[in-house]
Amino acid sequence: MTTLTVLAKRLGPIRGRHPWVFSGALKNIPEGLASGEPVELVDEQGNYLASGYFNSYSQIAVRLWSWEKVEVNEEFFVEKIKQALEIRERFVLSKLTTACRLINGENDLLPGLIVDMYGEYLAVQFHNLGIEQWRKEIVAALKTVVKPKGMYERSDMRARGIEGGEKKVGLLDGKVPKIIKIKENGYIFAVSIIEGQKTGFFLDQRDKRAALEKYVKGKNVLNCFSYTGGFSVYALGGQAKSVVSVDASESALQVAEENVLLNKFAEKKSEYILADAKEYLADRTVGDFDVIVLDPPAFVKDRHKIQEGLQGYRKINEMALRILPPGGVLVTCSCSTHVSMLDFRFMFSEAAARAGRTVQIVETFTHGLDHPELVAFTEGDYLKCLFAVAY
Ligand code: SAH
Repeated sequence: MTTLTVLAKRLGPIRGRHPWVFSGALKNIPEGLASGEPVELVDEQGNYLASGYFNSYSQIAVRLWSWEKVEVNEEFFVEKIKQALEIRERFVLSKLTTACRLINGENDLLPGLIVDMYGEYLAVQFHNLGIEQWRKEIVAALKTVVKPKGMYERSDMRARGIEGGEKKVGLLDGKVPKIIKIKENGYIFAVSIIEGQKTGFFLDQRDKRAALEKYVKGKNVLNCFSYTGGFSVYALGGQAKSVVSVDASESALQVAEENVLLNKFAEKKSEYILADAKEYLADRTVGDFDVIVLDPPAFVKDRHKIQEGLQGYRKINEMALRILPPGGVLVTCSCSTHVSMLDFRFMFSEAAARAGRTVQIVETFTHGLDHPELVAFTEGDYLKCLFAVAY
């Protein structure tokens, strides 16, 4: 096993069990060390600190997965996956909910690996070349623990470019149908691991979608950035008077309509509008909607463009607040990693002031239960969601 020495002044985060080790923290990196290679970190006196894998393509030279010596093989992954599955089985999976994030990367001590479970099928993302070297062992371990009917790779996320590595998609094992029907809190959703955005469905919004139900009875609901109608289906289930789903993707809206029908809400008033959400909001007037959901894609994709992104959030939030009647409810989200909850709150406060509204936050959310957050790893926090009432 390759041993890497950590500089004395850089020991803190490693002892604090932060999973990332930047190249500048290491005394030297041996020539020719391959991505994915398991490494042990030691201090300058040679005392063992932690274990992880090396990635030559990233400033994050080592990603840690253990603070005890380990042998990395299929069995190692089996144990990690079992531990992750145990949390999901205990708190998330049931007869009513058959889909969840099974492996949440660093947060489940499998850095760079995302696995989403859609019923009997798995969607897998290898976020960097290092973790990808363990593809064979990981696929075998997933088969042993989860026994899925099929696994499909969706390593086509933006981070792949930064971390080194081509985008990769394709079957990993078994068979995967084009459409999978999953259940979430009893609602049925059609998910396409193969063609959908990300791995097919935004599993991280499950608890927010459920929270929406209690605000919508008899109300007119606008779901902006609806994707395949997650919030729309819950709104109809919560007896909304009408729901309008707005998205820029025609295929997402088609699935949204299919999802409404799958849940037997055909007779309910549900519209699907292909539009830019901002343009759509600009044309609305006060009282058109009682409840508005804003769940845009990440507006801040790069640490250097936080201000620009915040302006984008501020604009849509201001527009939504302007058209809500007194007592109207706004559900506002941001999935930008680089925007903290506090930044988001300041942005929202500015939007409220500009719209001339008094706004009370009534509920605050981050990720769902199946997206556990490793306490030291604040970089992994990305989702923020506020439920607010405007007066
Ligand atoms: N709320 C959804 C997830 C939203 S993902 C759920 O619960 O499943 C973000 C969505 O925003 C994507 O479907 C994407 O197609 C859409 N989108 C991106 N830019 C947009 C724009 N300018 N106007 C409207 N929709 C947009």
